[in-house]
Amino acid sequence: MEPQRSPLLEVKGNIEVKRPLVKAPSRLPLPGSRFKRGPDQMEDALEPEKKRTRGLGTAPKIATSRPRAPALTTVPQTQGQTAAPKVPKKTGPRCSTAIATVLKNQKPGPAAVPAQKPGTAAAPPMLGGKKPSKRPAWDLKGQLCDLTAELKCYRERTQTLDQENQQLRDQLREAQQQATVLGAERRTLEGELARVQAQAEQGQQELGNLSARVLELEERLGTQESLVQELQKEQLGLQEERRGLATRLEEQERRLQTSEAALSGSQAEVASLRQETVAQAALLAERGERLHGLEMERRRLHNQLQELKGNIRVFCRVRPVLPGEPTPSPGFLLFPSGPGGPSDLPTRLSLSRSDERRGTLSGAPAPPTRHDFSFDRVFPPGSGQDEVFEEIAMLVQSALDGYPVCIFAYGQTGSGKTFTMEGGPGGDPQVEGLIPRALRHLFSIAQELGGQGWTYSFVASYVEIYNETVRDLLATGTRKGQGGECEIRRAGPGSEELTVTNARYVPVSCEKEVEALLHLARQNRAVARTAQNERSSRSHSVFQLQISGEHAARGLQCGAPLSLVDLAGSERLDPGLALGPGERERLRETQAINSSLSTLGLVIMALSNKESHVPYRNSKLTYLLQNSLGGSAKMLMFVNISPLEENVSESLNSLRFASKVNQCVIGTAQANRK
Ligand code: ADP
Ligand code: MG
Repeated sequence: MEPQRSPLLEVKGNIEVKRPLVKAPSRLPLPGSRFKRGPDQMEDALEPEKKRTRGLGTAPKIATSRPRAPALTTVPQTQGQTAAPKVPKKTGPRCSTAIATVLKNQKPGPAAVPAQKPGTAAAPPMLGGKKPSKRPAWDLKGQLCDLTAELKCYRERTQTLDQENQQLRDQLREAQQQATVLGAERRTLEGELARVQAQAEQGQQELGNLSARVLELEERLGTQESLVQELQKEQLGLQEERRGLATRLEEQERRLQTSEAALSGSQAEVASLRQETVAQAALLAERGERLHGLEMERRRLHNQLQELKGNIRVFCRVRPVLPGEPTPSPGFLLFPSGPGGPSDLPTRLSLSRSDERRGTLSGAPAPPTRHDFSFDRVFPPGSGQDEVFEEIAMLVQSALDGYPVCIFAYGQTGSGKTFTMEGGPGGDPQVEGLIPRALRHLFSIAQELGGQGWTYSFVASYVEIYNETVRDLLATGTRKGQGGECEIRRAGPGSEELTVTNARYVPVSCEKEVEALLHLARQNRAVARTAQNERSSRSHSVFQLQISGEHAARGLQCGAPLSLVDLAGSERLDPGLALGPGERERLRETQAINSSLSTLGLVIMALSNKESHVPYRNSKLTYLLQNSLGGSAKMLMFVNISPLEENVSESLNSLRFASKVNQCVIGTAQANRK
């Protein structure tokens, strides 16, 4: 392969090639190529004017003292002899031709000088030859002749020199022209040289750049090599990973195939299941239909059962003896077993009363009189709240089925009415009363019935009736604890529904909300208690829950109120007591209470006797509860009894009142269905 030549070397090569071209046309005497002349002749050739002037200057001298003609004659000869053979060697063809021309022109000069006219007296001057013998002084003519000859010789010589001069001038002109040409050529070359140098510099610079670039590329190469190594390593890692992935892929593919097989199996199964589902759905619809029929049947039977149990039921509950209270004498309160023995649920209660006034004539104490009572159910002192609720749970459910339900707690103050309805102190779930338990039960059954397409809503209110005035126990803010003006009104013209003006009706859907309402009612009673002495026991507390149920799919609706009433203390004032100002107030309270309780009894009697007039309006209590009593309602009365002997009189009164109620039968209840 041919090595790449640098630009500089290329230029240099060009210059070497061109050199002979420059030399050839040159006619300048270059070193080593001089004309082979004598130094004088060379000088004459270059400076002919000067030489001629010198020659002329010396001429008179020669003329006067000694003639120098022979010296002149020898010059051309010497030139002819020495220059002729040497010129072709040292100079170019053109140069040698020019010089040869000069010499040729010069030659006839000296040759002509010795040519003397034959017959001339005077001896011709011999240039370089023997000097002619001196003419005698007298021979003036000869001398003149000699001088004339010498003059002629000089003239010829002058002429020759002029010609030579002229030639030299031409030669000079030619040389100058050559010099000009060469100068131009030199400038061109200098320009070229400069350009070449610039090119060389540029080349150098490029070379430098290229070297730097080479270094850079080498460096990059190094980097790339290390990168390549890294990549190779990475590639190895990736190949390893790929192998692992390929293995996993194979595994996955195997599993996929298995899954696909399972899927196709499952799809077939799904198809059969779908068919089964359709069949099930039809069955379900049929069963739903049957279930609804059964539910309706259940309601009917449930109601029948309640009716068989009695639309008015009376439960007697005896509270335990509280710490610090005197233990009653044994046999004071007895709970005889029923006809079925001790396994029967207790329904009887026997109370013995020793009457001092009925003492025997002998002075011996009269034997105690036993008073036996029978109720739908009797709860001895040890009965728990849950046990009591269990008995009324079915009744409460009737409210969801659309039958109005009303539960009273009747008894003297301190007999356990509030404990039964609301519960004991401290928020212990064990002693929770009927109100929270009943509501929890209703919420849970409503949720169950939701599965059959029923939706229920509940709205609670809680008022107290004191001295025939109604007060909201759920009042909040500024009305809290105040006996605000509340009136019982019909919800609308022609409406059966009653409402208490200025009282809050609060939608409830969970236990917590009910708890909050009971807590608020307790607070409101506590505030009132400080203002008016023991007012709570002197007033009726009425908790009402309006239940609304709807079966949208069947277009069924049902609704009924559930009323839970904690009645005022039933005790009567001893008419024998002296009446102070406080007692007068208390007497008025008591009369109001007695009046409302006897009205309640009268209403129940009137309903039982199916009288045309039921005196609901005789008291605020019966007026407010009129929709929860009567033909379509179910009623339960708790008669709460104190276990203490000292309260025997009031206990007997309560038991007698309850017995009267218990004998009442209200006509067949009608569900409020639309
Ligand atoms: P009332 O409301 O009839 O005036 P309370 O419900 O306030 O009577 O009861 C009076 C006291 O007797 C309260 O301290 C109550 O806790 C307590 N008490 C009532 N019944 C029971 C019972 N079944 N078990 C335990 N304590 C009771
Ligand atoms: Mg009470």
